Amino acid sequence: MERGVNVPQSYRLVRRDARAERTVVRLHTGATFGGEEIAICAGPCGVESSEQLDAAARAVAAAGANILRGGAYKPRTSPYSFQGLGEEALKMLRYAGDRYGLAVVTEVMDTRDVELVARYADMLQIGARNMQNFPLLREVGASRVPVLLKRGLSATVQEWLLAAEYVLLGGNENVVLCERGVRSFDVATRNLLDISVVPLLEEITHLPVIVDPSHAVGIARLVPPIAVASVAAGAHGLLIEVHPDPPNALSDGAQSLDCNQFELLMRRLAPVVEFAGRRMPRPPSPSSRDNAATPGSDVRSSIRGVRLA
Ligand code: PEP
Ligand code: MN
Repeated sequence: MERGVNVPQSYRLVRRDARAERTVVRLHTGATFGGEEIAICAGPCGVESSEQLDAAARAVAAAGANILRGGAYKPRTSPYSFQGLGEEALKMLRYAGDRYGLAVVTEVMDTRDVELVARYADMLQIGARNMQNFPLLREVGASRVPVLLKRGLSATVQEWLLAAEYVLLGGNENVVLCERGVRSFDVATRNLLDISVVPLLEEITHLPVIVDPSHAVGIARLVPPIAVASVAAGAHGLLIEVHPDPPNALSDGAQSLDCNQFELLMRRLAPVVEFAGRRMPRPPSPSSRDNAATPGSDVRSSIRGVRLA
């Protein structure tokens, strides 16, 4: 590479000069990561009930988000904490996503669940705690479904990019990197957001990079300014936790925006997105609304076969 950036030879597939063009990851709804339009993934930390998810999905769609997030399988530090509702939550995510014209991203923790999660979701999230779960990376690499690869709890940029290399080597080129803060000596915030990786990765890799300010700072009122800063630094999108009733959330309530706070953030973001030379997500097209599941229909029938090859 020119520009003096040290790019190890071991980045065979993810390195910037491995491709003529930057990677643009496109979901079936038309949502993109890495193009002119940014991606806004929003929703609760965990799917808790169909009512909770419906309220969150309706609010984030109305505010202009284009991708619904929500955990069905939660990687919790304590085995006694809420672990997620599993396949029930996947069904709720698909239903709510289709209902409001949102694509769906959700975490997969186990190699044995990749096929199941991919049946419902448009994008598979590999969580920070699994960034170096190599069998899981290989499995999602074989799946061809777009992957959101979070940075590990204390992963170096090199470890993170080599984790992405595993997925690409498996044949899946649709990888989006997500900075979510790393452990630091200071517990004033939950993690320490490494915002410098946004422009740094732009030099090293052709893969898109988004920022998750919610897990980075862990404090809801700090999320909006850090979200704005991330977009100004060149992030191709954001992942934001939004809950209709944060004080009663079963996980990550302290860092979750309520629906009004999220709407305010989206308004604040618009001029910064323009400043960064990008566009806010387009509202869902009428055709994606027409295809939406109707209440009572079998959620599986609404799943589109279109996947990125
Ligand atoms: C999450 O997105 O809810 C999550 C568990 O994130 P991370 O893996 O970054 O901690
Ligand atoms: Mn969370």
